Amino acid sequence: MSDHPLIPPRAAYVHVPFCDRKCGYCNFTAIAGRDGWIDRYLRAIEIELSWLGESQEVDTLYFGGGTPSHLAAGQLARLFDTVLRWFPLADGSEWTVEANPNDLDAERSAVLAEYGVNRISVGAQSFDEWKLNQLERNHRGADIRRAADVVRSIDADLAIDLIFAVPKSRSGGSSAWSTEMGETFATWQRDLDSAIELAPDHLSVYGLTIERGSAFYGRRVRGDLVELPEEIQRAMVLEAIDRLTAAGYEHYEISNFARWLHRKEGTEDTRMAGSQFQRSARSRHNQIYWQGAPYHAAGPGAARYVHGCRETNHRSTAKYLQRVLDGQSPVAEWEMLDPESRAREMLVLALRQMDGISRDDFSNRTGFILDDLVRPAIRRFIELGFLADDGEKIRLTREGLLISDALWPEFL
Ligand code: SF4
Repeated sequence: MSDHPLIPPRAAYVHVPFCDRKCGYCNFTAIAGRDGWIDRYLRAIEIELSWLGESQEVDTLYFGGGTPSHLAAGQLARLFDTVLRWFPLADGSEWTVEANPNDLDAERSAVLAEYGVNRISVGAQSFDEWKLNQLERNHRGADIRRAADVVRSIDADLAIDLIFAVPKSRSGGSSAWSTEMGETFATWQRDLDSAIELAPDHLSVYGLTIERGSAFYGRRVRGDLVELPEEIQRAMVLEAIDRLTAAGYEHYEISNFARWLHRKEGTEDTRMAGSQFQRSARSRHNQIYWQGAPYHAAGPGAARYVHGCRETNHRSTAKYLQRVLDGQSPVAEWEMLDPESRAREMLVLALRQMDGISRDDFSNRTGFILDDLVRPAIRRFIELGFLADDGEKIRLTREGLLISDALWPEFL
């Protein structure tokens, strides 16, 4: 698959903003208590996609949120019909739907199976009751295990998200600490082991960050939430890498791990391993982002990258609905990237992947010589032990991935 940003996209993202309730740490485009808007949302998606003019075949399709599985079975089917009309799937494509663990009932799973969804990303976050409460999730650990069984029963790949470094809370802002002691290293180890027991095909692990716009942000400002010390958070990252790789997962992106699986017919991401054909359970859709390749998108807050132009729809679902249903563009921001900005951005995205980036590949894809563009930064980060250079490829070291967010501004 070519990843040149000026070719037509072969990937599409659809944002479903509805949730059962808003989690305390969430600053995504997500709304709770507005199920009455779902019909208008489905109509808006029909209208927004009709503006494509003609259908666009894709290799990867991703429904994220919000919580796509919050839609009722009939609503999901209507959404799938609309989206597949405009984004028909190529043979061997990857189709992911994000799901909350307690949403995968018989009706919704029947729709997922009937339409051929072949990858379900379950927002597990944790198996620990204290963590789930603290995160204000609406599911329990047992729901995740049931959801995993449902995903297996419809023959889809199982992806699981986990969160670590959940902060401590202090009751009522008083000087007395609550009995809740925050996430411990042992809690995180148990979460990793519980996830490994389910043998998901793909695992994403994210350190909790308290973002402006989330309920947690206000609580931290009031002194009601205290984040874990940085050294514990770093130890948790390294523990995830060590435990998951020991369990046979390939660490292929800063936060992402995948297994090698028996190949399903028609998939293109294959390799020979021993005497068997296998395919990687890496997220093909997310790899499109990390390659700096183009992609379509629809829905509130959705971001697309088409013909070198980055566009983001209005994050407010109310505004998105109002504009689209009035026949107006939902785009709130857009930016045309010049070739050098594209090249720098591609470098940062590529470095998120543990394979790193080869100098030849970079110049073929961008027309720029890597060392001409960022030689001083590369030299400094190699000296500091954050990057490794074998003469052809540069890639993040173990030290580097712990502080990667601090490296990117130097390249951009
Ligand atoms: S974290 Fe996920 S489930 Fe929770 S409110 Fe945000 S989008 Fe919805």
